[in-house]
Amino acid sequence: LFISFEGGDGAGKSTQLGLLADSLAASGVREVVRTREPGGTELGRTLRDLLLHGSDLDPRTEALLFAADRAHHVASLIRPALARGAAVLTDRYLDSSVAYQAGGRVLPAEEVEQISLWATGSLLPDLTVLLDLDPVLLTERLSDAPDRLERAGSDFHVRTRQAFLDRAAADPVRWLVLDAARPREELAAAIRVRVDALLAG
Ligand code: C5P
Repeated sequence: LFISFEGGDGAGKSTQLGLLADSLAASGVREVVRTREPGGTELGRTLRDLLLHGSDLDPRTEALLFAADRAHHVASLIRPALARGAAVLTDRYLDSSVAYQAGGRVLPAEEVEQISLWATGSLLPDLTVLLDLDPVLLTERLSDAPDRLERAGSDFHVRTRQAFLDRAAADPVRWLVLDAARPREELAAAIRVRVDALLAG
């Protein structure tokens, strides 16, 4: 079982990921792996540092560094865990690249997607949960000082949100879109219903 959580910074992805992980463990799933992008592996943490704090990163370099992080993440952590029968929950995956590097940085979406598919050997999640929120509310919810990527202008975040919504609309079987302003227990319950359907299928 492979599930990704997507959405803007401050939408509650890591909270919902944690709630689902606890709920799966409580219902007897033997191994639940929680991970994130960028930075799910040791090499990935070096790349994350470059991506968040590096200077002078042009959009193509940025896209390739995210893809490199993802390639290593899939090869060294996600595929081995799935092969052991673990449930893998990741905070961001390939759709973040299409939303941020294509939607946000305006590279061609098909090209960004192809780079990620190549990087991952075309591994896609069974379910992608989009926690959707107006970018104005997202900014208000950020507690720490924004990093390089979070400081991008509001147009950037509007485009990113739209790119997530467009991708979700094109593939309702893989995606679950939720209004991130709803109470967190309600969101967790809605996610669990979809996950139970997957486990039963
Ligand atoms: O989700 P997290 O806070 O770990 O993401 C770190 C930063 O990288 C965020 O500002 C996010 O918007 C950005 N990001 C990005 N492209 C991706 C993934 C994340 O610009 N593919």
